[in-house]
Amino acid sequence: MTDADVIASTEKLNLMGMTVAQLEQFFLEMGEKKFRAIQVVKWIHQRGVSDIDDMTDISKNLREKLKTIAEIRAPEITYQDFSKDGTRKWVSQMPGGSKVETVFIPEDGRGTLCVSSQIGCSLDCSFCSTGKQGFNRDLSAAEIIGQVWLAAKSFDKPGEKRERRVTNVVMMGMGEPLLNFDNVMDAMNLMMEDNSYGISKRRVTLSTSGVVPAMEQMVGKTCACLAISLHAPNDALRDQLVPINRKYNIQALLDASNRYLDSLNDNRVATVEYTLIDQVNDEVHHADELAELLRQLPCKINLIPFNPFPNSGYQRPSNNRIHRFKDKLIAAGYNVTVRKTRGDDIDAACGQLVGKVDDITRRSERFVNAVQQGSSAATIAKGRGSKERPSNRAQR
Ligand code: SAH
Ligand code: SF4
Repeated sequence: MTDADVIASTEKLNLMGMTVAQLEQFFLEMGEKKFRAIQVVKWIHQRGVSDIDDMTDISKNLREKLKTIAEIRAPEITYQDFSKDGTRKWVSQMPGGSKVETVFIPEDGRGTLCVSSQIGCSLDCSFCSTGKQGFNRDLSAAEIIGQVWLAAKSFDKPGEKRERRVTNVVMMGMGEPLLNFDNVMDAMNLMMEDNSYGISKRRVTLSTSGVVPAMEQMVGKTCACLAISLHAPNDALRDQLVPINRKYNIQALLDASNRYLDSLNDNRVATVEYTLIDQVNDEVHHADELAELLRQLPCKINLIPFNPFPNSGYQRPSNNRIHRFKDKLIAAGYNVTVRKTRGDDIDAACGQLVGKVDDITRRSERFVNAVQQGSSAATIAKGRGSKERPSNRAQR
């Protein structure tokens, strides 16, 4: 694609990220009937179409008219890998060159997709590799829902009706979803829309580190599940790990969570995420303090063993320490799960991927440069694991 193509394509409206209500408005403004919106949403999100010409129940005239102003732009996959355990991951290259990751994890009859909302993140939690990259930009609604689109499409078989493989979505990839509020709301709306992916409101989860004013705005705007990234049982420790705590402390976070759950009025509970970091927040007294603190919030607890990355300065606790922490909370009456590390063979752990792919790209550049300079390819390639291969572009 030339620069001119990029400019031309970015001038067109991307139908990918438009909700039914937005498309209805769009068609009305074109002098067309409202029901076109549902037709288009079904073509894009239920049938995986990315070419307006394939929308055969729309007249040729209207398709031609549409093509002059709009298009369906899916994320451009720069790297993808499908693991032996069924985990799939994609790295998409966004306009401007930045990359975002999406991970699919199959488990017990479910398929959970971990979706990114921003390129990088401004909140700088001390244990998060996304935070260490800094903030680049918000993803558009199209770039967010496009991750669901490409995951669903990856399971399509030619000539066969689509099976629903993505049953759950968690907004737990790169970025803080509540700092990209409108786009995340539109994308989640499309995930739950019957004419689109039709995912149940109990299976779409927004995870936040605690942007309290935006949590208040969620009331009445969405009915997705809520996960909060707590990671510490007191403000002194949380101030260190999750800097936004200095602005909105634990009590404010728990109050906002309760208000949101109350607004759902369907007995739903929050998920409390707690990343266990060796000798930082994984002592028995932390578990006791957490058990006491969470008496005020209907919740289940998800313990996430720390995923190490270079120069983090932190370590993952031993299995003994993880289980000691978990057992304390169970004894206190909580429903506790420990997040399994899945897709180890493809580095699918959330937040781990982009760094690796960048590294792979740099290694392949070094490889090409060295070969051009006459070095031994065997020496350079030595040590490259099978999971480390240069970018491959997906077929669409
Ligand atoms: N920004 C949002 C959602 C993305 S992160 C949030 O913070 O909630 C999804 C989860 O992974 C969060 O609970 C986050 O704290 C956690 N996490 C980030 N880096 C991690 C790491 N290196 N190891 C384990 N969990 C991590
Ligand atoms: Fe941002 Fe979440 Fe990472 Fe914190 S944990 S830096 S909020 S992505």
